[in-house]
Amino acid sequence: MWRLAGLLLGGAIIGRVLLASAWIGIALVALSLLAWHYLRLWRVLRLLRERRLLVAPLGRGVWGELESLLYRRQRESLVRKRKLASILRAYRQVAAAVPDGAVVLERQGLAILWFNDSAARLLGLRYPHDLGARFTNLLRTPRVLEWFNGPDRLEPLLDLTVPGNDNVRLSLRLIAYTENQWLLVVRDISTLMRLEQVRRDFVANVSHELRTPLTVIHGYLDMLEPGDNPEWAPIIEEMRTQTGRMAQIVEDLLMLSRLEAQSRASDETVIMSSLLRTLEREAQALSRGRQHIQVVDTAQCDLAGSLKELHSAFSNLVSNAVRYTPDGGKITIRWQRRDDGGAMLSVTDTGVGIPAQHIPRITERFYRVSSSRSRDSGGTGLGLSIVKHVLGRHHAQLLIESEVSIGSSFACVFGPGSVREHR
Ligand code: ADP
Repeated sequence: MWRLAGLLLGGAIIGRVLLASAWIGIALVALSLLAWHYLRLWRVLRLLRERRLLVAPLGRGVWGELESLLYRRQRESLVRKRKLASILRAYRQVAAAVPDGAVVLERQGLAILWFNDSAARLLGLRYPHDLGARFTNLLRTPRVLEWFNGPDRLEPLLDLTVPGNDNVRLSLRLIAYTENQWLLVVRDISTLMRLEQVRRDFVANVSHELRTPLTVIHGYLDMLEPGDNPEWAPIIEEMRTQTGRMAQIVEDLLMLSRLEAQSRASDETVIMSSLLRTLEREAQALSRGRQHIQVVDTAQCDLAGSLKELHSAFSNLVSNAVRYTPDGGKITIRWQRRDDGGAMLSVTDTGVGIPAQHIPRITERFYRVSSSRSRDSGGTGLGLSIVKHVLGRHHAQLLIESEVSIGSSFACVFGPGSVREHR
């Protein structure tokens, strides 16, 4: 302000002396000051507009201060940009180095936005040629299309092979990445699948090899009589029971191996009224009048699937209900429709029930709530595993509700796609 006042005063004096009017002097000084500030402003604006870096600022006064502030901000943003670029480079190197493939997809059109080297290797994608292409146009297998369009696309898609890379087994997993992008993670699970195959073959072979010797032993035991040694009678009877149990375990293991070996259940029409009659007959035979058995059929429809498998699953549930329900209890087999157009077969009993903490694990192989109780009841520990496998192959779900000392309910829930209406 002092400097401005000095300049104006100087202008007034010079104006008065040279131009006979102090105001003309003041006006000339003011005009030159305006022009000078305008020039400085224009210079800064031009630098900013052209995105040029200021060379160290050097003026004084208000413009010097402004330039030095701008200079400092520019340097800071330059340093930040370099840091960001190096983080991005490191991130890209990590993404490229991980053995799992990663593909970023647009949610709407499934266009490929980015993929790493592993994704290119595992899926046969080409960079940059495939960027922007629709993922399902490049990987056209029906399983992938079905998975992307189906309701289970957030569940991993396992054991996929890609044309041209037949000996590699992949798993695909979709992760919601941002609001309009998916992250597709591709993993090579060939070793895992091979190990799984070895395990499956081992169980199947052992069960198969045990079957013949067990049948022979069981056959001879059936013919064996205690004769002159009546004290042998309970021993022979126990041997018969135990070989019978072993034979049942082997049969259940073989059934599970068969279920695992075939990928899809057959698609015949399973006539439910006749299956329900068979289940009722089997329940009566097992129960021998100890429990009250009731069959309720309100569904008036049939099922699509494999009769053999569904029969095996349902009769496992019925046999459990009989085995875990004390004398005088009640067992209800109910076949009914659901609001969504699907149908449900449930087996409800008034038996011993299952403590809540065991329910999540009850369908695992050989998992038992109480091994002595299961053994006494003649169980193999594989029944519910078979039920779960069979239902999985029929796209159905097993719902379990149970309360200790009150009873249990096992419901097999089938979607509308599995229902066949009566003609
Ligand atoms: P198991 O041959 O031992 O019965 P499952 O796989 O059929 O094997 O059943 C696993 C366990 O679940 C059983 O050991 C039993 O404890 C429990 N369970 C199954 N069904 C019932 C039921 N209806 N009531 C009570 N417990 C049950």
